[in-house]
Amino acid sequence: MKLMLRVAPGIVRKPLIASVILETGALINIERASIDAVSGEIVLDVSDDKCRQVKDAFERRGVDVVLLEIPVMRNDEECVHCGACIAICPTGTFRFDNWKVVTDPGKCIQCGACVTACPHRALQLVLR
Ligand code: SF4
Ligand code: SF4
Repeated sequence: MKLMLRVAPGIVRKPLIASVILETGALINIERASIDAVSGEIVLDVSDDKCRQVKDAFERRGVDVVLLEIPVMRNDEECVHCGACIAICPTGTFRFDNWKVVTDPGKCIQCGACVTACPHRALQLVLR
């Protein structure tokens, strides 16, 4: 399961990920991170069985955490199965299956590249 963290200015310089790993024993993979001295947005991959524990641990440290259950949504009425999203996605979220583009939302890290590349504006990022 993927988690999106939004780290506020007051805590961005703290060793948040390290301390959560020590507390929970979870194996955490950083899939995308945009961090500077002021704030940060991070996407993590955590095993399903540790996901709730890790989310709670970050929230206790003041981090805003969102579960990325369906990170990218496609409007099937707009999609023309051109494959542009397959070419640009860095994580292999899209693939052809019998000349139709199918998605594996569990791979998405919400980089937004496919949303920009889609010529039919059929894709959008979802936070929930
Ligand atoms: S780029 Fe857009 S129109 Fe083309 S296959 Fe992907 S979602 Fe469909
Ligand atoms: S936002 Fe689009 S391009 Fe980026 S990882 Fe998710 S599906 Fe792939």
